[in-house]
Amino acid sequence: MNPSGKSHDRLSERLNARGLRFTPQRRHVYDVLSQKLNHPTAEEVFRCARRTLPEISLATVYNCLDALVASGVIRPVQLERGATRYCANMEEHCHYYCDRCGAVFDVMWTAEATAVPRPKGFQVDHYEIAVHGICTDCARKK
Ligand SMILES: [Zn+2]
Ligand SMILES: [Zn+2]
Repeated sequence: MNPSGKSHDRLSERLNARGLRFTPQRRHVYDVLSQKLNHPTAEEVFRCARRTLPEISLATVYNCLDALVASGVIRPVQLERGATRYCANMEEHCHYYCDRCGAVFDVMWTAEATAVPRPKGFQVDHYEIAVHGICTDCARKK
């Protein structure tokens, strides 16, 4: 059973292109990010990864995250407060944060989108938009 064999080929290509090795730890950290956790912190990745790889250390998780960021398969997401989170969605998107439960939602939004006002003549490379509010679940709980 190997549901993500294809993404692993891509992952090893991307790492190799950066002169980084494709290791079981890096693959596992990538799987945790892309399949199991929604915009986790390094600590959360560590706790989840340890269930499958009990010998993995937090330092190794940081090293894996750095390698994955360097090879462009995940991106760090910085909220104004709190630890860096990581996102495996490399499509152009903005983040909606629930201020109650901490959930993060990806919403597709390309650099060509004109919904956001911009200075005249400004050439947009990419958006980094954070929208705060309350998610459906939390709004329902009240
Ligand atoms: Zn995201
Ligand atoms: Zn919420």
